[in-house]
Order: sequence, then C-alpha cells, then structure tokens
Amino acid sequence: MTTQIEFNAVEKYYGRFHALKNISLEIEKGAFVALVGPSGCGKSTLLRSLAGLEKISSGEIKIAGEKMNHMPPRKRDIAMVFQSYALYPHMSVEENLTYSLRTHGVKKKDAQAKAREVADTTGLSNLLTRYPRELSGGQRQRVAMSRAIIRDPKAFLFDEPLSNLDAALRVHMRKEIRTLHDRLGATSVYVTHDQIEAMTMADRVVLMKEGRIEQEGAPLELYDKPVNQFVAGFIGSPAMNFIPATVGEDGQSLKLDIGEGQTLPYPGRLEAGKAVTVGLRPEHLMLVSKEEAQLSLKLRIGEATGATTYLFTDSDPEVAVVVNDRTTVTPGETFHLRIDPERIHLFDRETGVRL
Ligand code: ATP
Repeated sequence: MTTQIEFNAVEKYYGRFHALKNISLEIEKGAFVALVGPSGCGKSTLLRSLAGLEKISSGEIKIAGEKMNHMPPRKRDIAMVFQSYALYPHMSVEENLTYSLRTHGVKKKDAQAKAREVADTTGLSNLLTRYPRELSGGQRQRVAMSRAIIRDPKAFLFDEPLSNLDAALRVHMRKEIRTLHDRLGATSVYVTHDQIEAMTMADRVVLMKEGRIEQEGAPLELYDKPVNQFVAGFIGSPAMNFIPATVGEDGQSLKLDIGEGQTLPYPGRLEAGKAVTVGLRPEHLMLVSKEEAQLSLKLRIGEATGATTYLFTDSDPEVAVVVNDRTTVTPGETFHLRIDPERIHLFDRETGVRL
C-alpha cells in the first residue's frame, strides 16, 4: 500500500491557543479515515490544514509524496464536502457540476459529458435541470458529492457532511458515501463528532482530544483495546461504565467501590491494594440468577425499546446494562449480573491508562 496523506509532527497555534499538538499520521491510498472527538478537539483544524485553509505553525503535510505546507488550496488537488453543501443557488445541478471544470478550462461539451457520467454514478441523472432549492437535503448532499467527484481529486475531505440531515437520511447517506468511496477507489478523510458514524464508515478511526491523537486504529481495535479511559468512554454506546475499585490481597480480584461486598474476579495478576478504575461495557453485563451473580444492584429505571432494554441502577456510580430482549425487573428490585472476566477493562485510577 502507498501512503497518500502524511502529517509529520504538525503543530498549530491560533495566537497563543495550541490547537494541534504533535500530530503524526499516515493515511493509505484508498483508505476511509474518520477523525472523531468531542467538540473543540481540533478535528476540523486538522482537516482544514490538510485542505490548505489553515496554515500550520510547524511540521509537515504531504499529499501523494509532495510537501504541501506552502501549496495554495486549489493546487492541492483535493475536494472538500461541507455540511452546508455550498451549492450555487442560481445554477442548475448540471451547472453546479460543470462549474469548476469550466473554470479549469475544460470545454463546455466535455464538461457536460463528464457531469452526466458522474450524475449516473450518484443517481442524479434525472435532476440535472433542477435548482438546489428544488432538491431534498439528501439530493443536495449528492450534488455536493458529485461536484467533488467530478474533478477526480487525490483525496476527499468531509467536514461533518451529514449533520444537517434527519436520522434516517443520515443512516442512508452513510452507506451511500461509503459505497461511492469504494466504487471510486478514493482516499477519504471524514470529520465527525458521532462515534457511530466513525465506527460504521471508516477503515481507520483517529480519536482526538484537546489537539492530540489519543488513539488511531481499526474501529474494533478502539472498541476492544482502548488505550485509556477517555477512548474507552468515547467509543461505544451506551458508554462504558466506570467503577472505582481496589485490587484484592490475592491480586486476582477487584473490590468495587459500589456498595457492600461487590467483587469481580480478574484473570490476570495485579498489584495488591492498587487503585484502579474498572470498565464494564453495558452490553457485556449479563442478567443472571442470584446464585450465579457477581454483582447485585438495584434498578432505578428501565427503558424498553422493543429489541433491547436499557437498565440503569440506583447505585453510585450508576451502572447501565443493555439486555438483548425484555426483562421483568421492576424499579426498586435487586437484579443480578455477571461478566466474562476477559471482558473487564482496567485502567490506572491516577492516569487513566489501560492496565
Ligand atoms: P467541532 O466538533 O465543535 O467543530 P473541532 O474538533 O472541529 O470541533 P476545531 O474547529 O478544530 O474543533 O477547533 C479546535 C480549537 O481551536 C477550538 O478550541 C476552537 O475554539 C479553536 N479555534 C478554531 N478556530 C480558531 C480561530 N480561527 N481562532 C482561534 N481559535 C480557533
């Protein structure tokens, strides 16, 4: 595989504010990479730096092996798709598609032929004479995508392109964008604050916090082996439960700080008396009988969605449990849980680093 995009020790300051901290990242040709993280973590800044819309303070950005630091945006040969679509309202779909080709000196006939070819791929063939105001949100999104595709760029950059759409259309467009990416053999970098979007669309997920990359890897790698408590809490929905605990004298048990006598076995060897944080995914906690119980907690509220039921305990900290069916547990009732010890996540209580 060849590297298409490269960040080497990139730093970005806005005045005195340190927005990107030592960012190094390689993106392979053909990859779909999601930049994800809470609001303000720097994902848009990273994307905009790649596009040339922000000037980095130090470090290096390369596209297809060529250094981009001083390259103006229009010469970087990349296409950007924004959430606002940025379509020209006074131009038809076809004119929106051909515009950038025409400004790059392509003959009208050739530009129109190319527009029709792209419209075929994106399912816009019947809408070429319409104006943006005559299109649905999803159709506008497709025009924006088509306009990006038509220039055959080295990479597609997406900045939260689906956040204006309703939930059902978002799920649909997620698949459309991914299918288009595969069909075109494109390299895509996709910014979102939605971890589900990142997990379902991308081959690689880059999770950022406060200007740094916390973890980069395949989606399930982040889910299975989060490097720290922040990653563990961000990836997965509902979020992982965190319970403070102390390692028992035998080094193989975890005394949970959540009411009396709640102890979990641990398959590894740990330092006796160590202060840790135990991470339990709601979907890994199994409802069992009293005899099989490792944990017994009282139900505060249950939410049935049909396929699954969410249970929330009245303990401190609260524990969320996802049950793959319905339950008869009622509020105020004590219920019993087990977890496969292999699925217990452990973090250093001080640093949050995975143990
Ligand atoms: P969101 O999901 O809210 O869009 P983000 O992760 O994309 O967030 P950025 O837009 O990259 O975050 O912003 C990162 C940080 O840099 C934020 O704290 C923001 O306030 C700051 N920032 C962004 N642009 C500027 C600017 N032009 N001047 C000063 N600070 C800025």
